[in-house]
Amino acid sequence: MTVREGSLEAPTRHPIAWQAADFYDEDKVHAEMHRVFDICHGCRRCVNLCTAFPTLFDLIDEGKTGELDGVDRHDFGKVVDKCYLCDMCYMSKCPYVPPHPWNIDFPHLMLRAKAVKFKNGGTTFRDRLLTSTDAVGKLASIPVVVQMVNAVNKAPVARKLMQSVLGVHKDRVLPEYTSARFRGSAQPDASFPVKDGKNAPGKVAIFSTCYVNYNEPGIGHDLLKILKHNEIPAIVVGKEACCGMPKLELGDLETVAKLKQANIPVLAKLAREGYAILTAVPSCTLMFKQELPLMFPDDADVKAVQEAMFDPFEYLIMRNRDELLRTDFKTPLGKVSYHIPCHLRVQNMGQKTREVFELVPQTEVNTVERCAGHDGTWGVKAEFFADSMKIGRPVFRQMASTAPDYVSSDCAIAGRHIRQGISDGDLAGGTAEKQHPLTLIRIAYGL
Ligand code: SF4
Ligand code: SF4
Repeated sequence: MTVREGSLEAPTRHPIAWQAADFYDEDKVHAEMHRVFDICHGCRRCVNLCTAFPTLFDLIDEGKTGELDGVDRHDFGKVVDKCYLCDMCYMSKCPYVPPHPWNIDFPHLMLRAKAVKFKNGGTTFRDRLLTSTDAVGKLASIPVVVQMVNAVNKAPVARKLMQSVLGVHKDRVLPEYTSARFRGSAQPDASFPVKDGKNAPGKVAIFSTCYVNYNEPGIGHDLLKILKHNEIPAIVVGKEACCGMPKLELGDLETVAKLKQANIPVLAKLAREGYAILTAVPSCTLMFKQELPLMFPDDADVKAVQEAMFDPFEYLIMRNRDELLRTDFKTPLGKVSYHIPCHLRVQNMGQKTREVFELVPQTEVNTVERCAGHDGTWGVKAEFFADSMKIGRPVFRQMASTAPDYVSSDCAIAGRHIRQGISDGDLAGGTAEKQHPLTLIRIAYGL
């Protein structure tokens, strides 16, 4: 059989067979890594996407034979550790993804290798702590504790200590915590009549996310204000746990399954009651839209939630298509440098945030569609901080190039990373304000 160079069909994705008997079989995982790495060695298209591929190609080029057989299989882990599962090699570069017979799904192979590492106890205390976003958030946002945590995160001496003891890089700007959690302070308004459209339901349930709940509740409040201005009845999901994305990235799939058990019954009920479910963090939205459905392909509740889940700007554009979105913007935004995070690009829905920005008069949008290199926890780690800033450098430059009034990313963590890169690099946009796109739309509405 001849094998075509590249697939002509739309990419498909196989379920993650994490409950199969051989999923954690180390020899089989290594054999699959050998197969895929060899194809990548012959291809090398992804060399500039992240540092996982250059790490692989350096291992090969500097090995005894110049081929994959010259690489010690124990070094494969170095490639795995450099992958932060942004999904970009799968989505934007690889011509050999299924249905191509070579069946390359590089990110999900890395996920499997991470799961093996986790199962074998190869994960550090630091990594388990950083991915416990809900538990850490609950503790760090307790009044009094919160002031201490925020002060420590800004104190150079404490940060040096944190780097040597915990492995959190001393120069990484960390998000502040707040005791005014979103879930305790949100004032959703469900009083409006429901106006369903052809493209999107007329009532909304907000899945808060750990980040909005403990770090930047203002983003959630801004989303509520936008919904209220558009007379869309809204509620906050009654009970929620972390979406599971940080644990997925660690390879801790058993904990992902436990978190799914906590969230899915509540969300599925809302989905069946006709709510659109919105989360303001692209990685969390992606967890419900893609990763949980691939881990639990036969679960009807997971499917119901997948279908009800919207990125907030996807939802607003659907309302606009239904002629149910108000466009009475009062405040021009000027020059906005807008970054599309990878986990939003992977949702395959076009540039919905940019489309909403373009509805605002006297607003010029500089759209940057490239990985910024932070990921949720990866760019915080001492050993990956330099790589993270290096991957982000072209994004920092492009974002700063128009001397913008605002820098903005749907991923608040990427936004902060970009702001840090622009400041550290002393780039033109050094005075630009960092604001989440939902905050900018709330400003544009004059709310
Ligand atoms: S998923 Fe992202 S970080 Fe991982 S190998 Fe692909 S491009 Fe690199
Ligand atoms: S993931 Fe695909 S496109 Fe990227 S280097 Fe490997 S084979 Fe090539």
